[in-house]
Amino acid sequence: MFMGKMLLQSRHVPGGLYFGPPAWNAPVWPARDIAESSPPTLLPETPEALRHVLQRLKIGHQDLWAPALLDQLAGRPVSDVVLNLVAPQPESILPRVLSEFELPQLITGLNLVRRCVSADRAILAVPRDESEMRYQWGAVAKKHPFIVRPLINRYPLGHPSILLRALVGLKIQPDTSPADAGVILLDPMTCWILGCWIEFGGVPNWRPVELFTHNAMPRLIAANLGQPLSQIFSDAGIVYQKRQCIINGMMAGDLVDPEQTVLEPWIRIISLRPQPLVEQPVDCIRCGWCVSACPAGLNPAGLMAQVRMIDSLPAISAQEASACIDCGLCSYVCPSRLALATTIHSLKTANSPSVKPGVST
Ligand code: SF4
Ligand code: SF4
Repeated sequence: MFMGKMLLQSRHVPGGLYFGPPAWNAPVWPARDIAESSPPTLLPETPEALRHVLQRLKIGHQDLWAPALLDQLAGRPVSDVVLNLVAPQPESILPRVLSEFELPQLITGLNLVRRCVSADRAILAVPRDESEMRYQWGAVAKKHPFIVRPLINRYPLGHPSILLRALVGLKIQPDTSPADAGVILLDPMTCWILGCWIEFGGVPNWRPVELFTHNAMPRLIAANLGQPLSQIFSDAGIVYQKRQCIINGMMAGDLVDPEQTVLEPWIRIISLRPQPLVEQPVDCIRCGWCVSACPAGLNPAGLMAQVRMIDSLPAISAQEASACIDCGLCSYVCPSRLALATTIHSLKTANSPSVKPGVST
């Protein structure tokens, strides 16, 4: 066992870092119960063997910003493994804190994946304005065959299709796997859990998770896997009732019920915000903001106008809509409060048009 079950509570530490059980008063990483652990004697060496490990460790979820490693191990040739330290929200400190406290585990996890898929290169996508992280990973890259690529993290850079374009010049469709283009995208949590499994023999029963709340500093807390999100908020002294709870990114994450949702390995950020005021949409004033904001180079206003006129899209426009990455920026900037992103999203997913937080009007 990685660490015994314990009552976890948050505590305010200068700098906005909250972390740990009641006795902690400094941003330290929780101690591990190594005595109970039994590191594996035989490590996986092939994608198939790695798949078994991931299934055993229950790391199998896919979300918009972090495609599950399990789904990317389809046996295709792999040129690059990218450890994505660019967070879905630029204010996120989780990659930085993991790099600070758990660097050896991240390196171990990354090396394992690279070996299993026989990748030519391991690339570290590091936010350029995080100088400490850049320095840290730069020092690591002198000892390991890693390539450090500093990038300016401006939302929505963390999205796989945008990241791959910025990093290796590859253009992929938003709904396709980066592995189709020969790149494995590894999120730091998966990498960390794999590293812990190798070094300590198990999945940590707690994990760091970020809380973003309205009008407060972001907090990083340690919470137990399987714990309801409502309990995490209560432990941290945060009122969550009558607020919207969004996981993995305020703009393009998923709206969840904190009473019904438990902490899973793939949940990195939990955000709370007041219920948004419903503003009535008015006519498009052709300001062009949505066009300027769209990172996929689409014309959201044009697509929306076509839908309004003929209630569907011609094939060529439907193909254009498929390049949408659901970032929500078009709706966010629209002064007419038009539900651009929701409309474009529902065109892409005709079967189940789910409303994304931050994009509904
Ligand atoms: S959600 Fe809007 S801004 Fe984002 S990619 Fe889609 S059309 Fe462009
Ligand atoms: S941002 Fe809104 S108002 Fe401006 S062009 Fe786009 S749809 Fe029209």
